[in-house]
Amino acid sequence: MAEPTFRESVDLMYNRAVALMDLPPGLEEKIRVCNSTYTVRFGVRLRGRIQTFTGYRSVHSEHMEPVKGGIRFSLGVNQDEVEALAALMTYKCALVEAPFGGSKGGLCIDPRCYDEEELERITRRFAYELIKRDLISPSQNVPAPDMGTSEREMAWIADQYARMHTTDINAWACVTGKPETFGGIMGRREATGRGVQYALREFFRHGEDKAEAGLSGDLDGKTVIIQGLGNVGYHAAKFLSEEDGARIIGIIEHDGALFDPEGLNVEAVHDWITRHGGVSGYHEANTVADGEKVLEEACDILIPAATEGVITTDNSDRLNARLIIEAANGPITAGADDILRRRGVVIIPDLYANAGGVTVSYFEWVKNLSHIRFGRMQRRQEEARHTLIVKELERLDQAMGATWSLSPGFKDRYLRGADELELVRSGLDDTMRIAYQSMREVWQSREDVTDLRTAAYMVAIDRVAKTYRAKGI
Ligand code: GLU
Repeated sequence: MAEPTFRESVDLMYNRAVALMDLPPGLEEKIRVCNSTYTVRFGVRLRGRIQTFTGYRSVHSEHMEPVKGGIRFSLGVNQDEVEALAALMTYKCALVEAPFGGSKGGLCIDPRCYDEEELERITRRFAYELIKRDLISPSQNVPAPDMGTSEREMAWIADQYARMHTTDINAWACVTGKPETFGGIMGRREATGRGVQYALREFFRHGEDKAEAGLSGDLDGKTVIIQGLGNVGYHAAKFLSEEDGARIIGIIEHDGALFDPEGLNVEAVHDWITRHGGVSGYHEANTVADGEKVLEEACDILIPAATEGVITTDNSDRLNARLIIEAANGPITAGADDILRRRGVVIIPDLYANAGGVTVSYFEWVKNLSHIRFGRMQRRQEEARHTLIVKELERLDQAMGATWSLSPGFKDRYLRGADELELVRSGLDDTMRIAYQSMREVWQSREDVTDLRTAAYMVAIDRVAKTYRAKGI
């Protein structure tokens, strides 16, 4: 059977969910279709000649505005891909209750072929084309980083917007994922990886859910294979191994894989990749030339964190993971999803698993619009109130003849008011817990819902449908 395209895969997953829902006639199609996709072709003079680039910005659903979603720079970018990704953004935002519609953009380019100055000119020109059509705007369409882009590109886009809208006081809110020193928020860079960690922690809090995957206990000692040590994969692997005791036994990259049942040193591997562009030549672990083979090794948790369409009808039968968490968007095709579901493999779906990025983007956008850092007003006031309590406890202690004492370090830990990073983490943790609970409730309570992905789509579609019903089309 031919593998469906990415866009078709998302539609098939959507159809599976709506078949179990009771939407008013016609609304099902209205929500599924992509509202618009703008294609731009522009020229930039580089190295003595004009080079033409093709870029897209797709808007899937405007049931809430602004619409939100990253911009990727990759040779794989095409209309089908951005439309699939834009649709996923609609469902993702609905699931984590970020008040946005869904959008996605991309430029068909290999960013490694250009130096920084050239990339800045290309990015600014692409941004110019989108800005003049309101496809980048604080109130209508707010991009963010994605594959091949980072805070550097977001800063260029924000600056380009500000130059074209010199009197817009909210100019910085036109894009998220900016550098901390240029309108960004602490914790955004690692937010998607952090979200994967929080998602897994929440999954492991539910005995019934773990049992479905044949797992027990917590993350300590669990074996993990990760595909792609980019921004998302690196942070997920780092936090899971350093903070939860998980053992990263396999790391798959574009040029091969590393495998060590004793566990790999994530920092050392990441450092190697940063310096050498891949895992080849890394001597501290077994190198496997055919990296894809490592996807099939036995492990507790498999984390595809690279790109879409890597788990297909071809290889899904050979996977040996109990639990798969989709850190990338669309790594499992609809056909592979059917096979894995039948085999009883539990999948924590992309629209939930990687929603940490857009969640913290939401916090950044709110911060930009409110023009004040989170915690700035209340931090010292909280500290003062905590100090009152500690002083009172100490006074009581004296009055009672020093019969008890506070544990070492308690005073410092308790007195310190939360800074922006702590608040971002707390907001992200809360979001990931609540979103998980909303989809697991559907999964566990309905006989006809046998997987988390269908449950996640149902929760998201229901919210989008309610918005349409409330406001009218
Ligand atoms: N590109 C990320 C995603 O796919 C983040 C989107 C955002 O922050 O708007 O979810």
